[in-house]
Amino acid sequence: MSLKKYIRDIQDFPKEGIVFKDITPLLIDPKARKECLELLVSSVKDKKIDKVIGAESRGFFFGMLLAEELNAGFVPVRKPNKLPFETISASYDLEYGTDSLEIHTDAIQKGDRVLIHDDVLATGGTAKAVCELVEKLGGVIVQCNFLMELTFLNGREKIAGNEIFAAINY
Ligand code: 5GP
Repeated sequence: MSLKKYIRDIQDFPKEGIVFKDITPLLIDPKARKECLELLVSSVKDKKIDKVIGAESRGFFFGMLLAEELNAGFVPVRKPNKLPFETISASYDLEYGTDSLEIHTDAIQKGDRVLIHDDVLATGGTAKAVCELVEKLGGVIVQCNFLMELTFLNGREKIAGNEIFAAINY
């Protein structure tokens, strides 16, 4: 099955000139969703993952499914001031200005084998910030995986040195 069929292009979202890849048709279809999950799981099978990190917010959908399949813990990385316990943060560049992401300080133990998941690898800023959070807490990044990679944006250069997998490539 071509999973690309379940990704919808939305013109001018969230602002003019941007073509947004909408994953909701994939989420709504049980067969396509299962196939996508199986692809993601098979890329890390037998790699002994302790924790799966999902990046807010679309990384939560498959992040939790992956954690379940891999019998691993699930850790949300969130936008500022959303997590209630003690946090550390990492900032990343946006087109205009910066933003940051936070993680609970007790979410990763030193030496934990971590799978980082998000829906899209675009410029790589988000994934790089998540990598920084994991490294600060002493986790070992086993793989960064994504539903899709927008290869023409070269995001993988920002997280070079890590294993990267995407179920769908554009
Ligand atoms: P990056 O930091 O790599 O430039 O952007 C990736 C982040 O922005 C991800 O968290 C992702 O959810 C969001 N994102 C950027 N472009 C798209 C897109 O076209 N579709 C979706 N679903 N998310 C996007």
